[in-house]
Amino acid sequence: MKLTTRFAPSPTGYLHVGGARTALFSWLYARHHGGDFILRIEDTDRERSTEESVDAILRGMAWLGLAYDHGPFYQTHRFDRYKEIIQMLLDDGHAYYCYCSREELDEMRDGQRARKEKPRYTSLCRSRTEPREGINPVIRFKNPTDGAVVVDDMVRGKVVFQNSELDDLIIARSDGTPTYNLTVVVDDLDMGLTHVVRGDDHLNNTPRQINILKALGAETPKYAHLPMILGSDGSRLSKRHGAVSVMQYRDEGYLPEALLNYLVRLGWSHGDQEVFSVDEMVELFDVTNVNNSASTFSPEKLLWLNQHYIKNSSPDHIARHLRWHLGQLDIDPADNGPELVKVVKAQQERAKTLVEMAENSRCFYLDFEEFDAKAAKKNLKAAAAEPLERIRSLLSELEIWDAEPIHEIVKETAEILDLKLGKVAQPLRVAATGTAISPPIDITLELIGQERVLKRIDMALEYIRQRVDAAQQ
Ligand code: GLU
Repeated sequence: MKLTTRFAPSPTGYLHVGGARTALFSWLYARHHGGDFILRIEDTDRERSTEESVDAILRGMAWLGLAYDHGPFYQTHRFDRYKEIIQMLLDDGHAYYCYCSREELDEMRDGQRARKEKPRYTSLCRSRTEPREGINPVIRFKNPTDGAVVVDDMVRGKVVFQNSELDDLIIARSDGTPTYNLTVVVDDLDMGLTHVVRGDDHLNNTPRQINILKALGAETPKYAHLPMILGSDGSRLSKRHGAVSVMQYRDEGYLPEALLNYLVRLGWSHGDQEVFSVDEMVELFDVTNVNNSASTFSPEKLLWLNQHYIKNSSPDHIARHLRWHLGQLDIDPADNGPELVKVVKAQQERAKTLVEMAENSRCFYLDFEEFDAKAAKKNLKAAAAEPLERIRSLLSELEIWDAEPIHEIVKETAEILDLKLGKVAQPLRVAATGTAISPPIDITLELIGQERVLKRIDMALEYIRQRVDAAQQ
């Protein structure tokens, strides 16, 4: 049988960091072993499942590059199959109709509570054969009453559940719809799952699912339950701790490989290596090496990795992602501006996120009406007029608009006027970019282009003139 894993999200929200880590580990395990990876949308909860959420999950998977070999399968398309299996379980005596009324169930629970017992269904209807007027029955699985289920978990090790602790689980509601544990079992079986990698919030469902699989005469897959991800305060990771949606990380300027690299280290390690390319992850990942204690999410470390990937990825790759972010700022780098890859090369060393890179690249594509007030106040003073005028005149005559001759002009101007380089370069930077931060001045000017630079220096000179006038009045 081909090794097959799956990711089986319920579409009740966006793809969050925890889900993405589960998907990644499951995907890596399949890829490492040359197996198949399946995407299954568990949308049977019709009240909470939404189309948007399905879309968000699919987009998140696509952005992360977690490609699936089969699917997406939708559980809502498989109701006939679930019915068939439920009927089979009924026919084989592994399931039964339960006619217990709400009152009876409440009474049962109250009694158990009063006796300080764990609330559970007492299998009352196992022996009740007659239908009862006016009650639409649910269907319960006849769980074995003795013995134990041993889950030989690839992360947790052996976990033993006594059957006496498990009651007869509802597998079909009174309206006939199947419940979660039944649909998962049928799908895992039909889809040929050999390994189930999922969050450890499902560990308690596992013995129940194994019992149903056994009743169906099926082999049980191997299970790997991944420990939780915690926020910095030790509680389960949630919105309170910052972004938890995968697509929000895209929006905030993260590269997918940075997020994947960060996620792979949540509970897994390989020596003290921190940076893993996706190929390395596939080569080295083994779910049996996953640590079984919870890991803590560190936004700082993720940011560090993002910066690492921005610095070290190919400019073409960064450019593809940056184009999207520029689009968010209404900038189309194809019209009226420098080649995007050149901008990336100039900015790669200095941005922690692509949002920052896009913001700091505005000046290459868009003109501005005003200088950044603080930068202008500090740098566009009367003393800057002379160097700016000189530079403007030299730049206007430059025939080959290139960083090198631009550099010479700036340097010579500083020398001739006996000024520190910064006293010349910084006013020029504010003039050309509108801000106090940019890549080296020569490259910055090259990217902005001659016409724009001259126009902006004129604007800066005008600003200085007005400022001087205002001071004299
Ligand atoms: N649909 C379940 C969830 O999103 C996962 C079920 C499973 O992995 O077995 O939590």
